[in-house]
Amino acid sequence: MGGAMGHNQLPSLAAPVKALNGVGPRIGNRLNHLGIHQVRDLLFHLPYRYIDRTRLVPLGSLMPGNSALCQGTVELTQVLYGKRRSLLCRISDGTGSLILRFFHFSKAQQANLKPGMTLRCWGQLRKGNNSLEMIHPEYLRVDKVDDANIEQTLTPVYPSTQGISQFKLRDLTGQALAALSRGKAGLNELLPGGILKQFALFDLTSAIRFVHRPPPDADVDSLIKGNHPAQQRLAFEELLAHHLSLRLVRKQVQAHESFSIGGPGNNHINEFLGNLPFELTNAQKKVLSEIRRDMSNSMPMLRLLQGDVGSGKTVVAAIAAIQVISSGYQVALMAPTEILADQHYFNIKQWFSCCDIPVLLLVGKQSKSEKDEILKSLNSSQPVVVVGTHALFQEQVAFGNVGLIIIDEQHRFGVDQRLALLEKGMEKTRHPHQLIMTATPIPRTLAMTLFADLDISVIDELPAGRQPVKTTVISNEKRDEVISRINTACQQGRQVYWVCTLIENSDTLQLQAAEDIQKQLTEQLTGLNIGLIHGRMKSVEKETMMNNFKSGLIDLLVATTVIEVGVDVANASLMIIENAERLGLSQLHQLRGRVGRGSKASDCVLLYQTPLSENARTRLNKMRETNDGFEIAKSDLELRGPGEILGKRQTGMPELRIANFVRDAQLIPRVQQTADIILENHPGQVSKLLSRWLNTKIDFGKV
Ligand code: ADP
Ligand code: MG
Repeated sequence: MGGAMGHNQLPSLAAPVKALNGVGPRIGNRLNHLGIHQVRDLLFHLPYRYIDRTRLVPLGSLMPGNSALCQGTVELTQVLYGKRRSLLCRISDGTGSLILRFFHFSKAQQANLKPGMTLRCWGQLRKGNNSLEMIHPEYLRVDKVDDANIEQTLTPVYPSTQGISQFKLRDLTGQALAALSRGKAGLNELLPGGILKQFALFDLTSAIRFVHRPPPDADVDSLIKGNHPAQQRLAFEELLAHHLSLRLVRKQVQAHESFSIGGPGNNHINEFLGNLPFELTNAQKKVLSEIRRDMSNSMPMLRLLQGDVGSGKTVVAAIAAIQVISSGYQVALMAPTEILADQHYFNIKQWFSCCDIPVLLLVGKQSKSEKDEILKSLNSSQPVVVVGTHALFQEQVAFGNVGLIIIDEQHRFGVDQRLALLEKGMEKTRHPHQLIMTATPIPRTLAMTLFADLDISVIDELPAGRQPVKTTVISNEKRDEVISRINTACQQGRQVYWVCTLIENSDTLQLQAAEDIQKQLTEQLTGLNIGLIHGRMKSVEKETMMNNFKSGLIDLLVATTVIEVGVDVANASLMIIENAERLGLSQLHQLRGRVGRGSKASDCVLLYQTPLSENARTRLNKMRETNDGFEIAKSDLELRGPGEILGKRQTGMPELRIANFVRDAQLIPRVQQTADIILENHPGQVSKLLSRWLNTKIDFGKV
């Protein structure tokens, strides 16, 4: 770069990135793919980690997995002829030793690594046979370098994409930082001065500068962990933007009128309750009264119903539905999979037959004429319950007057999908009530940020008589014992799931594994009826298979993780989960929730492949120790560690650029406090914060 670029050539922060040196159309396009359009966007493209080449690590304190800068004297250089020829060089420094290994090397290189000389190396460490190794490290002879070669700042590593090197990104962020120094136009401080002071926060510009180019005396450890005050300041602003967006959704939704759902449902509800084979739990009664109170208001209900797997959320939703139907309005219930939609349809239809409430199903698999008929009933104002999948918010769907929207297994949907369905339900100016159900138990403060637009009800009690699922952890080497256990169970009239988990992230491979296992089990368990269900099957085939399992025609159902959410077959009381070590705790808990739903004692066998990693062992033990969803969720958050917290598909959590819901949880109370202050005293800042931080554009005009 040199000094060639005078300050007057620096583009403004609002200029397109192609105004920077070294950005042609190709690089420009790639930057656009990273979400970088203007020069300013580079400033918010933050390093996701740092390389510390500012200090030498003694060889005795090197850790496998880390990258490190270190130095030592060559003791030995030799060529090894094993499976693959390699050049090996051992260095030591009195605290320990290290092997440098090269698979590609020249004669000259071999000759140059002479015993007695001192080398400085940089590379990633892995466990070798007898000591730690670096494969193809960068190295220099120390007699030829001075200490200036130990870098003065931490080296940032940026999220990147093919065709853009780290070197390029460092250069470009360098140019953007220079542009920032020249003038702040286009990068405004959006937090009120009082807040910065009260919480002792970095101002925006200093935080950005620090995070991109940490000075030599920076607290390296905290930067690498992501909890340095400069990073926290930016995380704070990002969390604030998300929180504000949800508060805004709430405010705008509740500025509308809703349908005031009154008392006339009581007869129907009593009739329904009289026909149920069980009593509601106190927790179910409590959340029902919260829901009914909300719905009697003319303001739209926005309520999240949290309850562990098997706590009985569906029946609560059904009772709310009866109340709405009795007042003459429609109800829409959306589920994330067809299997689950089918199941809800089936149950609710049966439940509602006593009170003459029509129940419809709308899913992708239906024929056009079937759909047309359903769309017609929805469009008329006939009070019906419609159960469906995403199909419910497709274009052709127009509701006549939907009074309540219920979303099951919220963790499979994002906020944007939730809002799309809501928009569907709008009738001129009135908004339907919303009930959102989830089995993902997250800590309360986190819930209050992630679901800041919702009131929260919790079912904190399981129906009486439930027997906790007894979980055992068994090595795959004892597979035959497990198989004979299945035989015994089925002889006793129990039904069994065998869950195949993904080997690779590939439908085809998963399917193949499931088919192989079905074949194998069919050979070993000759007296049993064995079915197979997987995601690639046609909808009708899936439906038939589930019905056959439900009615007891099938003893053993081999399944992929398609059965993960919601599936409810009370007679199934044994579940085998193969390769259980590959799954996260939340997913294991969801799967295990498919058994233990009746009054029979149930078992879950977690089959694992050896060797088990430390982390996997902890997960499996946790599953054996507890059935409590909250406790499992807590361990799950701890074990996953920052950076890989629950992908969006798993949780419906928004994608964050900088903040991390676990690592930064302690910021949340301050975020909420700040949101109050901004909404009250600086409402003009809200839209600026949202446009700076939010990827998913929420169309506030429409909600
Ligand atoms: P989830 O909260 O996981 O969605 P479900 O609504 O599927 O749970 O309920 C699990 C099972 O428990 C269902 O078979 C349901 O009929 C049954 N159930 C619900 N409430 C009760 C209750 N109060 N007593 C006994 N069984 C109940
Ligand atoms: Mg459910």
